[in-house]
Amino acid sequence: MRLIIVGAPGSGKGTLAGCIKSKYGYTHVSTGDILRENIKLETPIGLLAKPLLQEGKFVPDEMIIEIVKNKLLELKDDYVLDGFPRTLNQGIVLSADTEIDKVIFLDINYDVILKRLTNRRNCINPECKAIYNLNSYNKDTCEICGAPLFQRDDDKEEVISHRYEVYKLETAPLVDFYTAKGLLVRIDASGTPDQTFEEFKKLVIGE
Ligand code: AMP
Repeated sequence: MRLIIVGAPGSGKGTLAGCIKSKYGYTHVSTGDILRENIKLETPIGLLAKPLLQEGKFVPDEMIIEIVKNKLLELKDDYVLDGFPRTLNQGIVLSADTEIDKVIFLDINYDVILKRLTNRRNCINPECKAIYNLNSYNKDTCEICGAPLFQRDDDKEEVISHRYEVYKLETAPLVDFYTAKGLLVRIDASGTPDQTFEEFKKLVIGE
């Protein structure tokens, strides 16, 4: 299947995509990860994207559409897009030449997001990308691969509220867009990662 996960920052898109990858072998395409990798390598894309990510702003549609189109050319089926599309325009462009099977909408309110994101820590190893929450894991190295953990620049409180406003304005319209196409599956994302994954298995895979 070709899947998309749509949701506010902190709704658990990356975590759910990671579960889908490990249980079903899907390819996980995270546009945020691709951009952060470009920033680390100081590529032309990275240099342009860096200040935008730091301020919680989107990179231009043309740039991200180009990145995703090239990526999709390399992919066979059974993939999950995490963080793309993020604007109605991106959704319209994607649907012009790619047939998507299901769109998972991770539904969550702002109070839960704020608590989650300020406590989020990520594994620095791009092959691992594990995500932790300080409430349940309060160490500074990854328990899977041993690499250091870091806090994303855009997970600082002052950036989070801005990212949420951008989400409401730019990304939330995709929920209606995909509902109208009959593709949307709504999942309550305010519980634990396991609860979200169980819902996914029930509603999307039919297990
Ligand atoms: P994420 O890791 O999905 O939270 O993405 C981190 C940041 O990367 C976002 O706040 C945006 O600045 C940028 N980004 C990721 N995906 C997109 C996209 N589809 N369109 C525009 N900007 C994006």
